[in-house]
Amino acid sequence: MAKSSVLGYPRIGKHRELKWALERCWAGESDEAALRETARAVRRAAWQVQRDAGIDLIPCNDFSLYDHVLDTICLVGLVPERFGSPEPEVSLATYFAMARGAAGVPALELTKWFDTNYHYLVPEFDGPRPRLASAKPFEEFAEATAFLGRPAKPVLLGPLSLLLLGKRHVRPLGEHLAELLPIYQEVLERLARAGAEWVQIDEPVLVQDRTEEELRLLRQAYERLGRASTRPKIMLQTYYGSLDEASWDLVTNLPVEGIGLDFVRDDGNRALLNRHGFPEDKVFGAGVVDGRNVWRTNLVEALEKLEEIAEHVSVDRIWVQPTCSLLHLPHDLRLERHLPEPVRALLAFAEQRLEELVVLTRAMNEGRHAILDELERNAEAFRVALDGLRLSRPEVRERLAALTEDDFRRASPYEIREPLQRARFQLPLFPTTTIGSFPQTPDVRRARAQWRAGKLRDEEYWAFIRERIAEAIARQEELGLDVLVHGEFERADMVEYFAERLDGFVLTEHGWVQSYGSRVVRPPIIFGDVARPAPMTVEVIRYAQSLTRKPVKGMLTGPVTILNWSFVRQDIPRREVAYQIALALRDEVQDLEAAGIGMIQIDEPALREGLPLRRAEWAEYLDWAVRAFRLASSGVRDETQIHTHMCYSEFADIVEAIDALDADVISIENSRSQGELLRVFQDYRYPRQIGPGVYDVHSARIPTVEEMVGLLEQALRSLRPEQLWVNPDCGLKTRRPEEVWPSLRNMVEAARRLRERYEGHGAPAP
Ligand code: GLN
Ligand code: ZN
Repeated sequence: MAKSSVLGYPRIGKHRELKWALERCWAGESDEAALRETARAVRRAAWQVQRDAGIDLIPCNDFSLYDHVLDTICLVGLVPERFGSPEPEVSLATYFAMARGAAGVPALELTKWFDTNYHYLVPEFDGPRPRLASAKPFEEFAEATAFLGRPAKPVLLGPLSLLLLGKRHVRPLGEHLAELLPIYQEVLERLARAGAEWVQIDEPVLVQDRTEEELRLLRQAYERLGRASTRPKIMLQTYYGSLDEASWDLVTNLPVEGIGLDFVRDDGNRALLNRHGFPEDKVFGAGVVDGRNVWRTNLVEALEKLEEIAEHVSVDRIWVQPTCSLLHLPHDLRLERHLPEPVRALLAFAEQRLEELVVLTRAMNEGRHAILDELERNAEAFRVALDGLRLSRPEVRERLAALTEDDFRRASPYEIREPLQRARFQLPLFPTTTIGSFPQTPDVRRARAQWRAGKLRDEEYWAFIRERIAEAIARQEELGLDVLVHGEFERADMVEYFAERLDGFVLTEHGWVQSYGSRVVRPPIIFGDVARPAPMTVEVIRYAQSLTRKPVKGMLTGPVTILNWSFVRQDIPRREVAYQIALALRDEVQDLEAAGIGMIQIDEPALREGLPLRRAEWAEYLDWAVRAFRLASSGVRDETQIHTHMCYSEFADIVEAIDALDADVISIENSRSQGELLRVFQDYRYPRQIGPGVYDVHSARIPTVEEMVGLLEQALRSLRPEQLWVNPDCGLKTRRPEEVWPSLRNMVEAARRLRERYEGHGAPAP
């Protein structure tokens, strides 16, 4: 019999229970016991829905209080020395200290999990040697098994992935792996003794480019784990993409009992299966429903894939699975009250995925006729939705089809624009500015909540926003900043704001997805062609500009970021969706220009994170990502200055693409990168203007004038003075006013001191 299997379930709770419990606990409003009680309830609820849905293999240890990589770090005892003397079992206090930092002790680094919008804590391998230091997998296995009345399937992050996701500077990979393996072996043995039949070991690093050496280590690792006498059967799980020839050959020959593969993301695994077949003795984990996008599965298409797999693998060795953990999906579509019906019919969140898995499994076991009703309903949903929705707007399609290369190009090259803009704005050397948002104080959030609840009339709300803008402008004038912003008070989120105003998007009420720890995001859903029914930002920016003679930057979120932070329709290529968004933004840019706005910033903080997992696919992505930005930004006069912003500091491998954006000014995160990234721009001879952040917005600390001067001096070793802008690393939305104003005061002073030093020393002072 084919079985249904789940790789991991959302863990924030249907009503974000875990988020609230964590935040209460951190605020000291509740104790550890209360947190643990909520955690237990969230786990049980997940097991219960999976059991009730009829899932055969239900995961455990997929839950986490903060992050599953951090859980693994604790499991193997990789607690860096700065968190105190070793505890036999890592305590909750240490766990949260590693996640969030403690007095004077920096947290582990947080970074993006593959190409998803989830973030994990980075393991540090240079510290103490690994040891078994957590009982979480055993406790959760016992808990799940007692609850379900049958063995659950524990999920572990595999040793190679743990290692390759971590930081290490001293010893070679092989040494670390050799130290990890006995611990994994012990974990497997204890799980087996506790009654685990299967364990799922995740090795997502296998879908990235791997060296021969890394693959050799993987073989060693699984040969060793596989040979152990007391262990559960191993399902070696990959996700987020396909294997390649080398890794396929490797994993299909390992002494493991199952291999899990993604059959949705691309055609790679399917081609490999058809070329090489699949070993007789292993279970095939068939990822045929999408674990990371919200579109309902087309059951006929999924069945076709399963039937093709069944030509190589006997049905009783097939597990019908999502492509990856359902962590990336909201809990339950049924919580949504206000989704337009045709869109809703096309969606599936985590709970709905369970139904799909069970139906598909039944079809494999009993034949298609057993699910005729479901197939009919599924087909009907697509039919109705496709009829009822304006998925396609002829005017958008026509405009896209009519684009020429000129639409992706500024009228003149940078060398010509630069003096024109210099003459227009008359800025001092080292102009000071900020990235866009100012602190969103509780009164701003409250006003928005009241307005959304209908308790504040439109005029009242916008009058309130205008007051905040006026305050922000006055404050910036007083501080002496050179280029001002309106503060983004009207935006709860930089993508949501635009999604609410563009056709082709819907927003959910409860579609929360974990980003990390207690942080959740609610990605908009792009279902149809994108169009801009009316200007989105012109009124507020025009108002802000009316209050000052200094330039106020128009402030937009870029097409690639809107795309990468949304759930995207799948019936047309991502590239095309990006261009549609870009066209809508292009109109906005031109309207801002027509309203007299001379500088327009188009943020692309998510450009880099959209990079495909395999290098061979980078060029294609970067090509359309850059073109989307240029389409949005290039329809302006030479005198209009286009800014962009990116808040990360790894530019080495994309600096050419950054240059190709052809933005006049870019602001980037820099204050913690020790000048590393500036060297990149220097080596590249980056020709445009650049504002390397001089103050870390992720810290409450107020930077001193001297340290900011120091960072700027450092920048001037790589850049000409006329290239350099002075700004923070990122927006100031989450900071408190009492931190922001003194920091900016110091920043303006740092720029002033630098001017004293450089003006008249060869640099053209205005
Ligand atoms: N303009 C945005 C802000 O200042 C940019 C945020 C970001 O880069 N993530 O908040
Ligand atoms: Zn930023």
